[in-house]
Amino acid sequence: MDGSFEPVRPYAGADPAFCRHVDTFLDSALTEPLRAAGRATTGLKSSPKACAAWSAILREQGWAAPSWPVEHGGAGWTTAQRLYFENACAERDAPLIQSSGVRTIGPLIIAEGSAAQKARYLPAILDGRHEWCQGFSEPQAGSDLSALNLRAERDGDDFVLTGSKLWTSFAQYATHMFLLARCDPSSHGGDGLVFLLVEMNRPGIHVRPIRFIDGECETNEVFFDGVRTPAADRIGDIGQGWKMAKRLMAIARSNNTTTGMLRRALRAARREGALAGEIDPEMHRKLAGLSLRIDAYEALEHHAVSEQINIDAASATSLLKLMATELHQSITEAGLECAPASAFAQAKYLATRAATIYSGTSEVHRNILARAIGCP
Ligand SMILES: Cc1cc2nc3c(=O)[nH]c(=O)nc-3n(C[C@H](O)[C@H](O)[C@H](O)COP(=O)(O)OP(=O)(O)OC[C@H]3O[C@@H](n4cnc5c(N)ncnc54)[C@H](O)[C@@H]3O)c2cc1C
Repeated sequence: MDGSFEPVRPYAGADPAFCRHVDTFLDSALTEPLRAAGRATTGLKSSPKACAAWSAILREQGWAAPSWPVEHGGAGWTTAQRLYFENACAERDAPLIQSSGVRTIGPLIIAEGSAAQKARYLPAILDGRHEWCQGFSEPQAGSDLSALNLRAERDGDDFVLTGSKLWTSFAQYATHMFLLARCDPSSHGGDGLVFLLVEMNRPGIHVRPIRFIDGECETNEVFFDGVRTPAADRIGDIGQGWKMAKRLMAIARSNNTTTGMLRRALRAARREGALAGEIDPEMHRKLAGLSLRIDAYEALEHHAVSEQINIDAASATSLLKLMATELHQSITEAGLECAPASAFAQAKYLATRAATIYSGTSEVHRNILARAIGCP
């Protein structure tokens, strides 16, 4: 027994003609170099070159933004179709793009932005001119995000930003940041915040990359020293920043599918194990167990996105985030056990350590779930 199983495909809502169309396109568009770049990915994104090449192909096909409505340049797919597509990409090792513009801020602009913001930002996200990063966390504000302190002082038509953000992923490559800032200095918690769209090339912004244990600089410190930015470039009213951030987090979590990523990681563990020598029967059993856990996760994801779980949507996304990240870590741990000397397995193991911290730590998500099921 080699411990492998046929992948399950429970996304019954995606009709067979659609699935065939996706499969045919992916089989011809995903060249071997693109698949190799996807297989070589250890972190959240594939190499910039592979991302740019694959994004251009998807754009040409009209599939760069699967969840966006057609009127805004998206594919206009249903949730089931989008999930099918993402899993089909993962099965073929497509490069991982993970565009924050497509997955998070774009959908928020579509839902809450002005007509001018839609016209300015959405086409630039689609054609790759704008890359976004998320400026929420600060040195004193992580799990307790509402303690954030970046000051936004009103001066005429502008806000003047003073303070800093921390752990901002990919800020060194971003052209824009969406951020939360405190516009009422006497306010506390989620009150008195504003949600701003800020160009990264404004005078007074300084980005300092943070080097992690694996040698990568995925996150950054970002300093704001009297940065002027137009007050009109905000989502929602002044004082409604917290509400907009909650909306964005709900979009971000529900707009993410992780089953494909988990299967990729398990394939990588098997591949590295086979390269390192023979995988022993005990390890085969462990990998088979992980494969079954992915099948169970996929069924859960399907139930959650089709709202068949009897908890509110925010708690359901906490459940998915918690289970996916912990399962991902178990898979990369097994990968390292299979091939301890493999640089790839080591990098993959290290890259997944942070997954139970960003987008809310496991402890914070367990708190949310405990409340959802009525614990005191
Ligand atoms: C790789 C990486 C990428 C990131 N990218 C971004 C980004 O792009 N943009 C952004 O804004 N932020 C980003 N973050 C920041 C991330 O959201 C925070 O690190 C996270 O919310 C935790 O906050 P903290 O680091 O301040 O830890 P703390 O909040 O200080 O937590 C420390 C520990 O205490 C525990 N804890 C805290 N409160 C509770 C509680 N109420 N009950 C039980 N346990 C608790 C936590 O679980 C954790 O174990 C990123 C972080 C990492 C590691």
